[in-house]
Amino acid sequence: MQQNEMKLEFDSRSCNEGFARVTVAAFLTQLNPTLEEVADVKTAVSEAVTNAIIHGYEGQVRTITITCRIEAEDFFVEVADEGRGIADVALAMEPMYTTKAECDRAGMGFAFMEAFMDGLEVDSAPGMGTRVRMRKHIANVNKMER
Ligand code: ATP
Ligand code: MG
Repeated sequence: MQQNEMKLEFDSRSCNEGFARVTVAAFLTQLNPTLEEVADVKTAVSEAVTNAIIHGYEGQVRTITITCRIEAEDFFVEVADEGRGIADVALAMEPMYTTKAECDRAGMGFAFMEAFMDGLEVDSAPGMGTRVRMRKHIANVNKMER
């Protein structure tokens, strides 16, 4: 498989979080990932989707878009919302930084995405929404079988 892409749009309801995570994992399967690699991607996607629901849209029901792309051994996933956006992205990405401490948030979502994926870029501006782009390298020893 050289290149393959898919796009998923769904309502920003927390009941859709599991659906999004599992759908991304199903698409990833064609790269023949290990269980650990699948778990890493699922965790990172969950964190980004939760952020879109609770911070981006703040409980309003709007659309979250996930785009996945496979390029050789790299898996790219982008989670996008058109919500309130982030004023200072570098600050937001610092471990333990949260604007919702009163809701028992730990401020660890971006730190988890960074730890579990091989690349993380966040594009955001106030009022313009947020795009979280992540990359995971799937090292497959059975390359010839794909
Ligand atoms: P946790 O993920 O541990 O529950 P958290 O969501 O506050 O806590 P992060 O996921 O690291 O922590 O996000 C840090 C901060 O970045 C958030 O508190 C929020 O202010 C901002 N943020 C993250 N994603 C978005 C988004 N999609 N839209 C607007 N703000 C966001
Ligand atoms: Mg979070």
